[in-house]
Amino acid sequence: LPDQKEGKMTQLSLAIVGHVDSGKSTLSGRLLHLLGRISQKEMHKYEKEAKQQGKGSFAYAWALDESAEERERGITMTVAVAYLDSKRYHVVLLDSPGHKDFVPNMISGATQADAAILVIDSSVGSFEAGLDKNKGQTREHAQLIRSFGVDQIIVAVNKMDVVGYSKERFDFIKQRLGAFLHSCGFKDSMVSWIPVSAMENQNLVGAASDVRLSSCRKAYIGSTDRYKGSHLLDAIDSIQPPSRDFSKPLRMPICDVIKSQSSGQVSACGKVEAGALRTGFKVLVLPSGYVGTVRSLEHDSKACNVARAGDNVAVTLQGIDATHVIPGGVLCHPDFPVAIATNLELKVLMLDVETPILIGSHLEFHVHHAKQAGRVVKILSLIDSKTGKMTKKAPRCLMAKQSAVIRVVLDDAVCVEEFSSCKALGRVSLRASGRTLAVGIVDKIIN
Ligand code: GDP
Repeated sequence: LPDQKEGKMTQLSLAIVGHVDSGKSTLSGRLLHLLGRISQKEMHKYEKEAKQQGKGSFAYAWALDESAEERERGITMTVAVAYLDSKRYHVVLLDSPGHKDFVPNMISGATQADAAILVIDSSVGSFEAGLDKNKGQTREHAQLIRSFGVDQIIVAVNKMDVVGYSKERFDFIKQRLGAFLHSCGFKDSMVSWIPVSAMENQNLVGAASDVRLSSCRKAYIGSTDRYKGSHLLDAIDSIQPPSRDFSKPLRMPICDVIKSQSSGQVSACGKVEAGALRTGFKVLVLPSGYVGTVRSLEHDSKACNVARAGDNVAVTLQGIDATHVIPGGVLCHPDFPVAIATNLELKVLMLDVETPILIGSHLEFHVHHAKQAGRVVKILSLIDSKTGKMTKKAPRCLMAKQSAVIRVVLDDAVCVEEFSSCKALGRVSLRASGRTLAVGIVDKIIN
């Protein structure tokens, strides 16, 4: 395949994660509006609709929370995909739900991410709740995105208007959350901190918006103690370009499937994790095992002929029945199929949770966009956290923060790869009763 066209901007998949109600959808909606992706007319329409439902403050979130049920409940349920352009990147914005019932959808969004914006509600009590050991979604999301290999993160400290743009509050959050992010494995140099107010449009895309606060003496942004740091869009441009597996065989985990009622055509949507594909190419669709031909490719509502590692696309297939293409499946090169397995050896790290994992524990396993029930059949050995070496100990249960090699048997087969050959298809998270207990990698595919 030809090299990327000159002048074409690098695609960056950016997950927006954080506690429910921290302002993720409002922030995304604002960014899209400020960058011309949502017109003034559309915004008026959203404002009107939101007001009619008695939810005026949700107007910007309205632009992203698509389904009626989401609007009804005022929460984001699936991964909303939107596009915007910064100076350096063509950004694919993945607005992930914060509500605890939808963490699996959040995982689906986060597995595609090159970097993330972690949105924090800076209000007193809300920030603290997000870091709560048992219920804190800030905590769970940060741990999850790190476990998916995301190592660059922007912390958008939102709702600064609620705390009077207080520098003390901003510094306090930076210190408390910074220590936690460090413990999750984020290097301090890979974390940027941006005080914002999505509601009042402060510090999102430019300093000009800060004027409103200049009279506020204690204000952090726009006062005599003027905030001199970056705004959010600058921080996005400061993200290091992600490395891509262009030369490896095609791997595209399927996030969503769109079936056209009128034409009967089926499209698989997702991010190309490795290799490339072009119209006319034959692709193997797993786990069904059927081969289809790429009829057309679409990105950001525009047709394209080629999609390469890093690109988020909708692939319309022909010569294949729609029932054979499912979310959680994978498109790959017919000569280089991905494994379909039920027996796996995993290296896992227990999160800081009270529930242990025992031999025989029934868990939910998440691998890219696939979710499968299964059980732990063996704990082979513990891994020493300091040396990374396996110990002789093979305990019957795993407690918080322990690392181990375990054997699992899934109820049904999933498309996976060993972590060493494809990172995106080799990462797992283990959940039970709506909580993530452990994260890890596929060390060995048994069968
Ligand atoms: P999400 O669940 O994280 O997507 O949160 P939403 O975007 O739906 O926002 C939750 C609530 O917080 C809504 O009422 C928003 O209007 C409000 N909100 C969002 N950002 C801000 C902000 O910067 N300041 C204030 N005061 N309210 C905000």
